[in-house]
Amino acid sequence: MNLTNNEYRGRFAPSPSGQLHFGSLVAAISSYLQAKSQQGQWLLRIEDVDQTREVAGSASHILSTLDKLGFEWDGSIIYQSQQTARYAEYLQTLIDKDLIYACDCSRSKLKQNSSAAAIYPGNCRLKKHPLTSPHALRCRVSTESLFIKDQIQPAFSVNLQDDCGDFIIKRRDQFFAYQLAVVVDDHEQCITDIIRGADLLSSTPQQIYLQKQLGFSQPSYGHIPVAMHQTGLKLSKSHQDLALGHYNPLAVMQQALVFLNQSPPAELAHVSLSEFWQWAINNWHLSDIPRLAEKAFTLDIPFTDTL
Ligand code: GLU
Repeated sequence: MNLTNNEYRGRFAPSPSGQLHFGSLVAAISSYLQAKSQQGQWLLRIEDVDQTREVAGSASHILSTLDKLGFEWDGSIIYQSQQTARYAEYLQTLIDKDLIYACDCSRSKLKQNSSAAAIYPGNCRLKKHPLTSPHALRCRVSTESLFIKDQIQPAFSVNLQDDCGDFIIKRRDQFFAYQLAVVVDDHEQCITDIIRGADLLSSTPQQIYLQKQLGFSQPSYGHIPVAMHQTGLKLSKSHQDLALGHYNPLAVMQQALVFLNQSPPAELAHVSLSEFWQWAINNWHLSDIPRLAEKAFTLDIPFTDTL
C-alpha cells in the first residue's frame, strides 16, 4: 500500500451486527472528520470476524447508509471474514515466539474458580494441550506495565497480567478473536490514527501488546464517549437506534455534532450534504470532544424533521 511519510490514515470499522445507529454514526463522523481535517485518508473495514453475531444484510445496509450520508472512503473495503489466512500467518508468528498456548477452560469452570472471571488465572499455561481444536488459543501476557495515551481520554497505565490475564486469540469455535483481527487489519491497512468509541478503551492495552509482539508500529488512539440513553442504556440498544431511518438524516448528523460538542448551528440540518460536510470539516475540533467514557444524550429533533 502506498503511504507517504506523515500521511494520516484513519478508519471506521463497524461490526455488521445491525443497522448503523446513532452511536456508530458518531464514531463514523468523528473518525471521518479527524481524517479529513488532517487532509488524510479514511478507510472502511467490515468487522465480520465473529460470524455468529453477523446479521444478514447489515453490512450492505451500513455501507449504503454511509454512502447516502455523503461519506467518501479511500481504497477498497476490507471484510475480516476474508482475512483468515492473514490472521493464521500472524498467529504462527506468535506461536514461534512461544506466546501461545491452548486452553480448555470453559466459562463456567472459570467462574467457579475465580471471583473475577474476567481475569484469566493462567490455569492452562503449563498444560501443553495441543494447539488444535477444540481448544481455544491464548496469548501469554507479561507483567510489564503499559502506559496508554489517548487523544481524548485521560492517559492510564495497565498491567495486563492483573487486568485481564492471558487473553484469547483464537476461540474454541475456531473463529479468530477480535483483538488479533483488528491489530492485523490496522497494520495491513497502514492505519496511523484510530478514533472509536470508548467502549473499546479497555481493549486498547491488549491491542498495543499484540502490536509490540508482532513488531507493528503503534497507531495513535482517541476514544469518543459512548452515547447513552438518559435511562443508562447504550443508544444502540434503545429505540433511538432507529433514528437514522425515522428522521431527516442531516438532522441526525447535526445532532451527532452536538453530541461531540462541536456547536453546529441548527440550520445545518437543512443545508445540502456538501455544505454540511464543508462546515463540519472546517469547524472540527477534536479537543472539544467531551473527555468522558459515556455521555447521556437525547436526540433533539423537531417533529418537522421526521420522515
Ligand atoms: N467493530 C467494532 C464495533 O463495531 C469497532 C472496532 C474498532 O473500531 O476497533 O464496535
